[in-house]
Amino acid sequence: MKEKIIYFDNAATTKMHDTVIEEMIDIYKNEYGNPSSVYDFGNRVKSIIENARISLANNLGVEPKEIYFTSGATEADNWAVLGAARKLKNKGNHIITSTIEHHAVLHSAEQLEKEGFEVTYVPVRADGILNFEEFKKAVRDDTILISVMAVNNEIGTIQPIREIVEYVKGKNILVHTDAVQLIGKAHVDIKELGVDMLSLSGHKIHGPKGVGALYIRKGVQIENLIFGGGQEKKKRPGTENVAGIVGLAKALDQTLQNLDEKEDKILELREYIIDNVLERIPYVRLNGCRQNRIPGNANFSFSFIEGESMLLALDMYGICASSGSACTSGSLDPSHVLLGIGLPHEIAHGSLRISISEYSTKEEADYLLEKLPNIIEKLREMSPLYEDFLNKKGEY
Ligand SMILES: *Cc1c(COP(=O)(O)O)cnc(C)c1O
Repeated sequence: MKEKIIYFDNAATTKMHDTVIEEMIDIYKNEYGNPSSVYDFGNRVKSIIENARISLANNLGVEPKEIYFTSGATEADNWAVLGAARKLKNKGNHIITSTIEHHAVLHSAEQLEKEGFEVTYVPVRADGILNFEEFKKAVRDDTILISVMAVNNEIGTIQPIREIVEYVKGKNILVHTDAVQLIGKAHVDIKELGVDMLSLSGHKIHGPKGVGALYIRKGVQIENLIFGGGQEKKKRPGTENVAGIVGLAKALDQTLQNLDEKEDKILELREYIIDNVLERIPYVRLNGCRQNRIPGNANFSFSFIEGESMLLALDMYGICASSGSACTSGSLDPSHVLLGIGLPHEIAHGSLRISISEYSTKEEADYLLEKLPNIIEKLREMSPLYEDFLNKKGEY
């Protein structure tokens, strides 16, 4: 039955570019020397890593020495938040983040609360954008760190990072952003953005899983998260994931090629999906601001529907998408992001995230649009909530 895969879960992870795989295979096969060794066979690998660092840095508008490779964005987020707070604890103990951060940041912030720090979780507006008035009120004299994501992974909304940086300028507060969902989707110049730290991940940009990077602005000191040997200037020890690092740099480079055309195409497809879903399916809402979101994201809530059953039904047709609680499958709690934009539990439960990449096609969108309305209708027919609703409506 599942003869084909229709992949609309690109915010969770992406298909690797063929060019990335080819470069990585070459590394695995031929460049297995230890980068920290004395002999040339290892030194050669050291320069392969440094070239990857240069390429990544150039594509982000920063200096190579400001890039530290990690095991992914979860580690980069943990390192930035925990490392900065612990380093600055003599200066103050207040941290600001938002209610819709990725768990890599949220759970790090919760860890800091256990260590005696105070954290303010700034809410977002109903459209999924940071409530800037609340943010301004949260900034205090003892604030040492702000961590707000650049783009939300569930609803795709773009957060006002430059405005945050501008607002706290001169206040001696470090600003970190989780830019996993922004990098590779726009031409990002980190210096222009002005943040002190930025996290990114390989597998969200058609690169390998298990590799990412943390940008740490020159002069900014944070504590280590990991202790060991001398790699990454002793700040992030452990024998380098050489193929992963090369794959990450190549993935970003390749993804940025003709980016504007690719993003135009992705946006067109996204708008096509949104228009059709809103038109053809009743009792549905689009979550998050329609304009101020990255091109590849559409997130809907269908009333009277349970997200998991929708995903299973889509899966019968080979369609991969996700719902509010994908990252914590096994948990029945609705997504903190959807609750964060003010959705009631039952609406948050019926959410569907369609995330599009440069590999997505109009045919795939049509296939989704052909199957989805029937799936929703069938599920509603089985829903006591829907029956209730129809009965009540009949009374009016
Ligand atoms: C995927 C994701 C992460 C985690 O990245 P990993 O490399 O998988 O650890 C962090 N933040 C956001 C916004 C993400 O989408």
